[in-house]
Amino acid sequence: MKKLALVIDPGHYPGYNPGVDPTVYEGNVMYSLAEAEKKYCDAKYSDQVDCILTRGMNENPSLEQGRGHKAVEMKQSGNYEIVMFMSDHTNAPGGNPPDPNVTGVCIFTSQFRKNTYDFLRKLADVAASAMNSHFLYMDAKPLSAADPADWWGVVRGAMNHAKTQQEADQNGADYAFIIEHGFHTNPVECAFFKSQKNIQRMAEAKIDFIMEYLGIKKATNSTMTAFWLCDGTLEITYAGADGVNLRSGLKITNSNIVGTLYKGEKRRVVQGIKMSDGQEWYRLESGEYITANKNYVKYTENNRKEKVGKVTGVASNDVLNVRDFPNSSAGNVTKTLKDGNLVRIIGECYNNGMQWYLVDQGDASNKFKGFVAARYIK
Ligand SMILES: [Zn+2]
Repeated sequence: MKKLALVIDPGHYPGYNPGVDPTVYEGNVMYSLAEAEKKYCDAKYSDQVDCILTRGMNENPSLEQGRGHKAVEMKQSGNYEIVMFMSDHTNAPGGNPPDPNVTGVCIFTSQFRKNTYDFLRKLADVAASAMNSHFLYMDAKPLSAADPADWWGVVRGAMNHAKTQQEADQNGADYAFIIEHGFHTNPVECAFFKSQKNIQRMAEAKIDFIMEYLGIKKATNSTMTAFWLCDGTLEITYAGADGVNLRSGLKITNSNIVGTLYKGEKRRVVQGIKMSDGQEWYRLESGEYITANKNYVKYTENNRKEKVGKVTGVASNDVLNVRDFPNSSAGNVTKTLKDGNLVRIIGECYNNGMQWYLVDQGDASNKFKGFVAARYIK
């Protein structure tokens, strides 16, 4: 289950609502903003977030069913802990001609999502700060006395046309709001959206804040800083029904999951790995990686064999490879041995039915440690 479905509604449609600068249309620049938000979200947060737009660039879906209701569908899928519906707009104060001096960021939301007002107030500040503006006001109100569902069509749709708190909590989005990024009737705020750089800055500020607020971490490009060879047993201690994933790489992402282990299952570990982000991993003898986080797994070193062995059966013009992983086609050769060399056997494992020894030099000089094919050690 992913943490968040983020449904972004690019307000209106192309050519709708020209600003005080007639080359800026609300419907166009809000599509650019929503698209930048989705791209940034996909690039940085896709491990825990699915982000969708409610319309293509040239489409104009209906407010309640075509836009807002997309969030209800995400809610009903059962695939997300949280569903957030955000409709991106720029504002106009009404009046003819409209007052060009009105500025600020406004929020229009659901009467049934009072628990999100603190978040929305902060998000408004983040957006205002990105465009050197200020918070103006936030509002939530009913359609009419006869229909107490939310006033704004997209919000009403995202709340599944709920008329009561109970209906809202059944299928409504967890967050449902319109954010008005300043007034396109004001020359300065209108001009802000002429710049793609400004749009990008706004998108990143909003998305980073939303994720930080929800505790969703940005993907990092972490690199391996250390690894060591070992011979141990890993036992899954985490009792959750989702288990602990086996991965083909040293990164937490959905695309590299190759299996899952559950509480009580055991595997042999042949490598420990430390990453620049501080995370530690184990590599199993079968090649997969698994977290070394003690909240999920327990590691026990296997009994050391502490036996001296002699390299045997290697031709005089050949060498025996010492590897950093027990597999002749994975990992690296770290040293070579000659027929007759002595090694200390400190571990043993099997990979694809082939027996390997973990060996070291056995004295203080010229220390090495690695895996060798057991059939050459007598
Ligand atoms: Zn609008």
